Amino acid sequence: MDRIWTLIMLLVVAGAGQLAAQTADQDEQGGGNMMRRIEVYSVELGQTITVDAVELSDAEWRERLTEQQYQVTRRQGTERAFTGLLLDNHGAGVYRCAACGNDLFLSTTKYDSGSGWPSFFAPVDPANVDTEIDHSLGIVRIEVRCSRCGAHLGHVFEDGPRPTGQRYCVNSASLTFTSMEVGDQGDATAGDGAHAPAKASCAPD
Ligand SMILES: [Zn+2]
Repeated sequence: MDRIWTLIMLLVVAGAGQLAAQTADQDEQGGGNMMRRIEVYSVELGQTITVDAVELSDAEWRERLTEQQYQVTRRQGTERAFTGLLLDNHGAGVYRCAACGNDLFLSTTKYDSGSGWPSFFAPVDPANVDTEIDHSLGIVRIEVRCSRCGAHLGHVFEDGPRPTGQRYCVNSASLTFTSMEVGDQGDATAGDGAHAPAKASCAPD
């Protein structure tokens, strides 16, 4: 019980910090129609780059995305487990945001969590994703979003494999896959020993 309260308090503190950071960001923009610029990591270029944030109206997102992509990325939807097109994709390459093309995950961090959703133990770079506390469904979870366009991707849990112990549980509908040669990105491999508990799940059914 104590552990649960500690976790809840940590989440509350983390949420307050994030709110303060967001407010600071907004202050820096200083109004006007200036496009917000952000730094993200580009796998193709192998370095951090500055790009325009992608901020579209609801109507524009509807036009740009398929119905399922729209429901998941703009309406915090969750595709049904074991239905995603990229769940069993084992090719080498990069998983990008289906809404804006931002690089999100590498194939070298993808592993089979048994949850029914594509699972990764790390993002391409911490700068490429944002996290937010999600109180929906009556439980506290950490939502993962694309840092460039705010697309809902899924949730991150603390029951992932080594080396991070994190499990990014992501909807296939939020992702596109581009085949390319990708390096190790550090010491991580998604091979042997990288298996989370079989009961992992993204959402209570
Ligand atoms: Zn995006």
